[in-house]
Amino acid sequence: MKVHEYQAKELLKAAGVAVPNGLVITSPDEAAAAYESLGGGLIVVKAQVHAGGRGKGVAVGPEVDRHEALEIASGRKPRPEGMAKGVQLVRSAEEAVAAAAGMLGKTLVTYQTGPEGQAISKVLVTVGHDIARELYLGLAIDRDLQCPVLMATTEGGVEIEKVAHETPDKIHREPIDVGLGMADFQARKVCQALELTGETAKKGQAFLKAFVRLFLDTDASLAEINPLIVTEAGDVLALDCKFNFDDNAMYRHPRLASLLDVAEEDPNELRAGKSGLSYVSLDGNIACLVNGAGLAMSTMDLIKYHGGEPANFLDVGGGASKDQVLEGFRILLGSPNVKAVLVNIFGGIMKCDVIASALLAAYDELDFNVPLVVRLEGTNVEAGKKLLEESGRKIITASGLTDAAQKVVAAAGHGSVAK
Ligand code: ADP
Ligand code: MG
Repeated sequence: MKVHEYQAKELLKAAGVAVPNGLVITSPDEAAAAYESLGGGLIVVKAQVHAGGRGKGVAVGPEVDRHEALEIASGRKPRPEGMAKGVQLVRSAEEAVAAAAGMLGKTLVTYQTGPEGQAISKVLVTVGHDIARELYLGLAIDRDLQCPVLMATTEGGVEIEKVAHETPDKIHREPIDVGLGMADFQARKVCQALELTGETAKKGQAFLKAFVRLFLDTDASLAEINPLIVTEAGDVLALDCKFNFDDNAMYRHPRLASLLDVAEEDPNELRAGKSGLSYVSLDGNIACLVNGAGLAMSTMDLIKYHGGEPANFLDVGGGASKDQVLEGFRILLGSPNVKAVLVNIFGGIMKCDVIASALLAAYDELDFNVPLVVRLEGTNVEAGKKLLEESGRKIITASGLTDAAQKVVAAAGHGSVAK
């Protein structure tokens, strides 16, 4: 689960990590009051979307071609005059209102969002700080070391992907013991790597320990502070922050779960989650209903191998009910890109005759205006196949994965993909 920058900063502040003061607004007229109440002077207006690269991003209306916008946001094309960025520095209440108006209701396209961009419905108005140095901090789970690793580099502010690719030696890595958190000696080592000295180093150590503690206490899966700044006065502050939490741990954190912004999520993925189904939206035109994540992966591999492109996959899990299958089909058929549906079920706990009768019920209840290919295997497969074959419905049955993939790719129009 992802949260917005302003939410992450509230969590950091409560954990004792230094962040600039700020206020969230949802309409441009609130910007003037926000500007004044933060004390005026240099103020920063920031679009709140679940993506980075906002500083170089472009806030655009429906009239602007999104692919063109992406070229500009990625620096491959020059930025035309007056095109709004997702992070803007302002020096008056009027400028703050203009900056907020240039973002709210628009779509922000950054190198991370792709051409679709993300709708801006909230803006953070925050105190601008003088920046002596821009540093970077990241926390992620290292699968090889089987623990979180703190990454720190003096090369902050810029795209960290570039630093990792071009100068990986500049990134200091510090493994974290999940039971103990960050030890004092580790905090000192990281501050040294960040070239912090004297009082600033002391502030840096406290900052690091609180940041790591928050990461561990919230079951976070990823956290990033870019930039972590050092001011002229020697203070350290988190100017930008990203936090992702482990969905599987959300039951332990009801307060965090309430931070979910449904406007940022794929509506179909949310809907599927409510019925205990996992749904993933993709770009192609073949919908897949499967049971089990491994089967989903191999089904998609085979569709691609035979020249098709999956539109999505929906995993009904081990023991899906008739209602879940019905809801699954409603979600799959709701996507306008879908030209054919493949049901690929291996009956283990789930019996093939049960899924076959659920399929028939769904077929009768829903408007199946695209071809349906079904491959069943496993427990009670003969009974399941018989049900489908004798039903008189227009269902294409397949035996084996290859047969199923070939039939659905042909049914979708020889794998021609509407992108
Ligand atoms: P993103 O990573 O999405 O581009 P950031 O929050 O990192 O967004 O902002 C981009 C840049 O804007 C920062 O690297 C920093 O130089 C500047 N900036 C952001 N917030 C502030 C602030 N409060 N004061 C001064 N400069 C800021
Ligand atoms: Mg940033």
